[in-house]
Amino acid sequence: MSSGWEERLSELEEILKTYREKDIPYSRVLSSMCTSPHPLALKALNMFIETNLGDPGIFQGTRELEGRLMQMLGELLHNKSVAGYICSGGTEANIQGVRAARNIMRRKKGISEPNIVIPESAHFSFEKIGDILGVEIRRARLDEDYRVDTAHVESLVDSNTISVVGIAGTTELGQIDPIVELSRLVEEKDIELHVDAAFGGLVIPFMDEPYPFDFQLDGVSSITIDPHKMGMATIPSGGILFRDESYLHALEVETPYLTTKTQFTLTGTRPGTGVASAFAVLHTLGFEGMKEIVEKCLENTNLLVDEMRNLGFEPVIEPIMNVVSFETDKAERIKDELMKRKWVISTIRRPRAIRFVIMPHVTEEVIVNFLAEFRRVISSL
Ligand SMILES: *Cc1c(COP(=O)(O)O)cnc(C)c1O
Repeated sequence: MSSGWEERLSELEEILKTYREKDIPYSRVLSSMCTSPHPLALKALNMFIETNLGDPGIFQGTRELEGRLMQMLGELLHNKSVAGYICSGGTEANIQGVRAARNIMRRKKGISEPNIVIPESAHFSFEKIGDILGVEIRRARLDEDYRVDTAHVESLVDSNTISVVGIAGTTELGQIDPIVELSRLVEEKDIELHVDAAFGGLVIPFMDEPYPFDFQLDGVSSITIDPHKMGMATIPSGGILFRDESYLHALEVETPYLTTKTQFTLTGTRPGTGVASAFAVLHTLGFEGMKEIVEKCLENTNLLVDEMRNLGFEPVIEPIMNVVSFETDKAERIKDELMKRKWVISTIRRPRAIRFVIMPHVTEEVIVNFLAEFRRVISSL
């Protein structure tokens, strides 16, 4: 009966362990927007490991669960008629948001040479979008607080513009664009507005004074919101949410050999684990439990900022969420020195700064340990 692989299991485990131990543990990573999955997410992962939402006629329960998760996210983002799905991440979500806008505007206004206006601070996934979708990417300036300059956005919009992009939680600084003004602008121009809240979507709603960035603003057409970042779901779990179902129809292609006739997703085969793990966390912790986690991250961000100020480092902007960058022209050297000591931070180029993301795994203890090493590094430079 046995094909003999059981005897080789311990050998395999040794090999896998050797490689896995070369990875840097999250407890030394202050640069990532991902984190250790919540124990609830791991529980769900195990139950849904073989599911394939690419064929939802087979995995009907998983598809139903995705619907429930969409309703929860819709509630969070002030939209009862929300439609969307869980995808591979913020990159795919942004692609699909822009792709839907492109297809809709082609039909509605006959636009064949489309452009979109994005902030200079946009995530690099928009580079790929220009390349894949054949959409011209126009970059709008930022103001002195690193929010997109709405007047410049307006000046870049023309009759071929299909969509404007706003960011709720920029990758580099955690800044939030003036989505209220962008929403007003797109309504006036009768074009789409995609909000990239890949990170901020599961932070801003849980802050004491949430900034309006979601479907409560009439101009917002689609939102990227990633459970595999602050939602503590297992990777991959990205989210694309649309104002209503018509956007999904704009993405559909026919699927001759599957249990369903059409498919609106970008990938074919796709895991149900992102759905189950995101649902497990959000359902069980509830919005209250999420608020506690976000509050802790913000508290730890303040702790780091205070300590860094004592060492003479000023944040580029007064931190809004749990992403913070400190200006220094030694950014690259600091990062490299820390990396040699197996501590991971990141850098940004404009302005030159070192960047931190204070995820749930970046506890007070992690910060204290990090700062001890950081002090040694800066005094050696
Ligand atoms: C992380 C991030 C993305 C990309 O998400 P992936 O899951 O890495 O594809 C896009 N936009 C913003 C604002 C992000 O922070």
